[in-house]
Amino acid sequence: MKSVALLFLLGALVTAQVKRKTDEFPTAEGPLRITPVRHASLMLEGGGQAVHIDPWSQGNYEGLPQADLILITDNHGDHLDAAMVDKLKKARTPVVGPEVVTATIPGAVPIRAGQTKTFGKWTVEAMPAYNLKRGPAEGKLFHQKGRGVGYVLTFGGKRIYVSGDTEGIPEMKALRNIDIAFVCMNLPYTMPPEEAAEAVRAFKPKIVYPYHYRGSDLLLFEKGLAGTGIEVRNRDWYY
Ligand code: ZN
Repeated sequence: MKSVALLFLLGALVTAQVKRKTDEFPTAEGPLRITPVRHASLMLEGGGQAVHIDPWSQGNYEGLPQADLILITDNHGDHLDAAMVDKLKKARTPVVGPEVVTATIPGAVPIRAGQTKTFGKWTVEAMPAYNLKRGPAEGKLFHQKGRGVGYVLTFGGKRIYVSGDTEGIPEMKALRNIDIAFVCMNLPYTMPPEEAAEAVRAFKPKIVYPYHYRGSDLLLFEKGLAGTGIEVRNRDWYY
């Protein structure tokens, strides 16, 4: 019986590893590897650096390297998990985020939308991320302009956009030359898949990964991008 239980356990471990799929992209600085982890959490690797974005203990981090850089978009529980940040960071790992985040993490590096900072071979520009109309009550927004951020990361000439929690704001639609985009959707907090697709059509990344999409119908997102030539990569962020 014990060996049967062990086999089941091994099977489960193998399944988890298979589901966490890493994609590789060639760049001028060698391969860029991207690993979706869970919901808003992902990891990028390149130039010998591992960049963790919004690391969350609900994700499966087994086998993933510790962070050389941690980027956080907001202070809500699905983006800022102080215990996970502590687990992933090394002695000198910069932890970067907007002020609502850095105010609670000793030594963290604050960044505002529009600012650019460089960490080794990675350039990080903070982008606005906010609600245009959705909120918990009349006249209130889930994400006020100026509190959370998204990021445009550049590595080896490739530009990667990570939206953070936002609706299809003009600043997103005005983006250009994005190779790989991670765009959020989920109601009531951000936007429905049709709106996300409309925003993506405006800035035309080469590849888009829907992320932070819990409960959204990804078929509607794909439909909204049909015929545009934009490649949609669906991954299981909730296994
Ligand atoms: Zn969120």
